[in-house]
Amino acid sequence: MRPKTCVVTGASKGIGRGIAERFGADGCEVVVNYRSSGEAAAETVDRVEQAGGSALAVQADVTDLAAVEAMRDEARDAFGSVDVLVNNAGITQDVQFKEMSHEEWDVVLDVHLDGTFHCTRTFYDDLAAAESGRLVNISSIIGKEGNFGQANYATAKAGIFGFTRTLAQELARTGSTANCVAPGFVRTAMVEELPEEIKETIRGDTPLGRLGTVEEIAEVVAFLASDGSSFITGEVIDVNGGKDL
Ligand code: NAP
Repeated sequence: MRPKTCVVTGASKGIGRGIAERFGADGCEVVVNYRSSGEAAAETVDRVEQAGGSALAVQADVTDLAAVEAMRDEARDAFGSVDVLVNNAGITQDVQFKEMSHEEWDVVLDVHLDGTFHCTRTFYDDLAAAESGRLVNISSIIGKEGNFGQANYATAKAGIFGFTRTLAQELARTGSTANCVAPGFVRTAMVEELPEEIKETIRGDTPLGRLGTVEEIAEVVAFLASDGSSFITGEVIDVNGGKDL
């Protein structure tokens, strides 16, 4: 059987790297997208190969449609048509709303929403043509609960829920699926940079009493990308240690 070709945006580090590595363990061909961390992306490629897959690092800022289209061309040249797209690239720019500039609002919405639009639009035909195409979007618990200082991020992540449910309906005609994973707080650079007392509060508010790991998120993404999830579409899977209970 031909290995699946998977594009993971923002795979130079954190959750995206974990997803790429997990796809490698399934023998997949992985396009490791990154924006600026070329060395880290090369390390992700090594890890995917060590795990048993093949990989190619491709630089593309997801806010730039022409760059995303060039990434698709590179992906097709290397591996052929794409079966799985994981929209994972993300940033935060936290500031209390009363002080938030329009630029701080825009930059976060651009990466999460325009980035997701550009990538999904660009790979849509591949996903629709694939035997079991899979779109997996990474949202966040913050999209459901909101969070002090994150009006921009919460808005973007909430938008991903509606986008996923709509794409699930439209892609269903082709037999492909669209689902969303909403992580709680996971040990990556994005969270490690929070003050220790905030991390302690998060652990206290989480029934399982700890932050999540990238492997725990990647495992769920790998399932949603697999043939085993063929009758699941339009869902949001929370992976948050029970934090919203
Ligand atoms: P991270 O460690 O900061 O990594 C972010 C990744 O996104 C990097 O690979 C970065 O690439 C890439 N990226 C950022 N802007 C980009 C752009 N314009 N174009 C292409 N790539 C871009 O973040 P993370 O914690 O792994 O988060 C990954 C995803 O999970 C995000 O969508 C985030 O919102 C979501 N999430 C995270 C948590 C958490 O607790 N960590 C919780 C819920 C949801 P470069 O370094 O090359 O720029």
